Amino acid sequence: MKTLFVKARLISADAPSTIPGLMPPKPSQSAEDYLERIHELMEEKGYARVVDIASSLGVTQASVTSMVQKLDEMGFVNYEKYRGLMLTDEGRAIALKIHHRHETLARFFSLLGLDKETQGKDIEGLEHHLSGSTIECLEDLSRFLEQNPGTLNQFLEFRRE
Ligand code: MN
Repeated sequence: MKTLFVKARLISADAPSTIPGLMPPKPSQSAEDYLERIHELMEEKGYARVVDIASSLGVTQASVTSMVQKLDEMGFVNYEKYRGLMLTDEGRAIALKIHHRHETLARFFSLLGLDKETQGKDIEGLEHHLSGSTIECLEDLSRFLEQNPGTLNQFLEFRRE
């Protein structure tokens, strides 16, 4: 019962059709951010400590511990209090998906000349909410604009007028 309750709370609001216990759990927005950050720390340092996750997400260590325990119950990380933290294959797949979405949106917004601060704010939310086909379309549009700088400049000048 406890596991079902935890899963139900972690299921994101945009997945009302997900039934706890019957379908694989879908991580919430903030669970996805945790997985992304854990993966980045592991790439950077080879390990992800609660204290480092807390400082890089700007949250308390208690919040990190509680989320990490939930992610463990959902099968996205393996966590043992004094031995540390590992992503499971499922956890890593989600981290890589969010990372790729983040990079795709940053590439597109940079082409449009949007400043880093605006990008940072918008991407943090959008990376969780756009559908896969929209992300793919933005990827193609970025590639098109990179290959056709004249067209991109026409648009950028049009905006300046
Ligand atoms: Mn985010």
